[in-house]
Order: sequence, then C-alpha cells, then structure tokens
Amino acid sequence: MSVAAERANLLGMHRAELEAFVAGFGAKPYRARQLLKWIYRRGEADFSRMTDLARDFRAGLAERAEVCVPEIVADRTASDGTRKWLLRMPGAAGNEQVIETVFIPEPGRGTLCISSQIGCALDCAFCATGAQGFNRNLTAAEIIGQVWLANRELGYDPDGERIISNVVLMGMGEPLANYRNVLPAMQLMLDDLGYDLSRRRVTLSTSGLVPQIYRLAEDVNVALAVSLHAPNDRLRDELVPINRRHPIAELLPACWHYLERQNGRSVTFEYTMLDGVNDRPEHARELARLLHGHHAKVNLIPFNTFPGTKYQRSSAEAIRRFRDLLMQGGVMATIRKTRGDDIDAACGQLRGLVADRTLVRLGSKLVSLAVRA
Ligand code: SAH
Ligand code: SF4
Repeated sequence: MSVAAERANLLGMHRAELEAFVAGFGAKPYRARQLLKWIYRRGEADFSRMTDLARDFRAGLAERAEVCVPEIVADRTASDGTRKWLLRMPGAAGNEQVIETVFIPEPGRGTLCISSQIGCALDCAFCATGAQGFNRNLTAAEIIGQVWLANRELGYDPDGERIISNVVLMGMGEPLANYRNVLPAMQLMLDDLGYDLSRRRVTLSTSGLVPQIYRLAEDVNVALAVSLHAPNDRLRDELVPINRRHPIAELLPACWHYLERQNGRSVTFEYTMLDGVNDRPEHARELARLLHGHHAKVNLIPFNTFPGTKYQRSSAEAIRRFRDLLMQGGVMATIRKTRGDDIDAACGQLRGLVADRTLVRLGSKLVSLAVRA
C-alpha cells in the first residue's frame, strides 16, 4: 500500500471530526476551523497554499492527510444550460464506477443535484438508477466532493455570489440508505465555515425509509422531499416497493413528525406522472384527501423515459388537470419543468456506469443476488 493511500482524506469530515483529527497531532480546534474555510469556502485542496496555517502544522498535515476529490471524466452542457458531470469513483480492481452530478441554472438560483450511492437497491419501477441495481454507498468525501468540484467549475457570479445556491440529494441513490455518509456531507453544506447554505436550500429526497426519517428529525435540519408517486398502498406497493415495508400510513406520520421536530414549513411530495398508471382524476382526488390539512406541497414530475422502461409520460393536459384537481382539493401543487433532456440529465435518468453490480431488491423480504456485468 502506498503512503498516500494511508493518508486520511479531510474532505467529508465535518467540524467535530476535523477538530478531533487535528487534535490527534496536537493542534488546537481553531486549526480545524481554518481548514474548513480553506477547503470549502476557498476550494483549496493543496496544504502548501493554505498560507495562514503555521509551517509545522502544514508539514504535519502533509504527512498524515490529503484533500482527495473525485475525478471528472466527462462534462456536458445541454441547450438549456443544464450541466452534467460524470465522476469516476474507485471500485474494486478493474471495476471503476461512474456517477453523475447535475447543475440546473434557473433565474435567481442555481441548483446542484448530487448522488448518494452508486446505483440504488430500492428498485422503483420507473427509475433508471433503480433498474441498474446497487453497487455501493458513496463516502462522505465523494458526496461533498460533488459540491466541491461543481463549485470549482462554476465559481461565483460578478457580485461575488456563489453560483450554486441550492443542493438537492435527488441524483443517483437513496440518501437515507446511506445515512452514515450523507449526514456529515449535509452538515458541511450547512456549516457556516463550509458552504453555509440555509436549511431551506438543502433538500433531501427519500423514497420513504421511515425509521431513518425519525432519525433525521433528531440530527439535521434540511428540507424534506418524499417520493410518494401514488395515493394508495395498492399502487404504491407496485411503483415504490419499499412501501411494502413502510406503507403510507407509517410514512405520513413520520413526515409530520419531521416537520414538527425541525420546525419546517412543509414537506414536498414528489409524484412522477405515468400515463394511465397514477395520473387519473380519481388519483388526484384521493391524493388531495390524503394530504389536505397538512403542511404539504406536491411536485408533479413528468416521467422521463429511458431505454427499457414500460412506462410513458402523462400528457401535458393530464398533468395540468391533475394539478388543478389537487389545488381544488386544497393542496398546493406545482409541475416540475424537465431539464437537460438532450444530455439525459433529467430526474430518474441518471444511470452512471455500474459494473460488478449487486442487485438487491427490498420488498417484504431482503433478497440479494450478485450479477457480474
Ligand atoms: N432515491 C431518492 C432520491 C433520488 S430520485 C428518491 O427516490 O426520492 C429523485 C426523484 O426522481 C424521485 O422523486 C424519483 O422518484 C424521481 N424519478 C425517478 N425516476 C424518474 C423518472 N424516470 N422520471 C421522473 N422522475 C423520476
Ligand atoms: Fe432508488 Fe430513488 Fe430510483 Fe427509487 S426512485 S430506485 S429510491 S433512486
């Protein structure tokens, strides 16, 4: 093993971890705070350029630590300005994986959509990431590293404002299935010495891992989005198989608990519009009855097609009618604009490249099946 492989990667260590790390070789906690500023605010990865650190502290760091960021293997920009990076992730020998990170510019804000796992085990029926199976969790460094890299590439506007104003965990993977690594990454996004994003500008999207929603309520304050996609268990069991384990009657109370505990404004429910499957007027009415009276918003996502899927996108008219019925039923609803179509960067189209995958389906029973690609 090379010396470099034994160095600790400082990327992904939240404040308390970094303080403990520097204390390990006799440095005071304020050194960790200086490091945070250098790494995240100034985007610096080279200790020799961190000029206000004492020389011997820098030398100590160079021996024990590094700031190791993922490598960009492709960088494409769509006609609407959406930009997608493919990032190489180390895997077992000869089995490197590639994940995707997407930047979506909009008037007044810039949203970075990041991945939390390589593939996904939850196998939602209409999702390209799910269809490819699960390979592994990303480390905290690989999760925050996506923000670090995109920030380096995008930089600041002429007023000195960072181009990335919002981060959404809506790329590849189920963030709450990788809780251990997602939590420190989110803490760094919120930390005033990290990216200093307000809690409303960091959104975690989950397919509904109920126990982890309760845990999240104790640990961090971010905006919560929940992939509902169906107004009843019969349909949701089919579209989002984790529903067989955590049905709607368990999921919704977990959402309301999160709001109460974190003093949040509302939960956003994502609902992918699948032609003839979940887009009928009776579905809209049923959904309105389910959510009416709660602090809930519905975001309707036109289905994004990908090779091999059996689903089709609902018509624009069906989507508008669905929204109108929700609003009439007293539930706030919006329609998500599809972005990055010409570079396959839209929701649910992120596939990456998963070699040596392990297909794990989570239903009523856990079944694990290794597949060599
Ligand atoms: N695993 C998390 C976050 C990633 S998916 C989750 O499921 O919430 C982000 C959103 O895109 C989810 O709401 C997901 O259901 C939706 N999605 C997945 N595949 C899609 C597709 N083909 N078209 C439109 N939306 C899709
Ligand atoms: Fe995984 Fe989310 Fe895709 Fe479901 S929709 S398979 S949870 S990434």
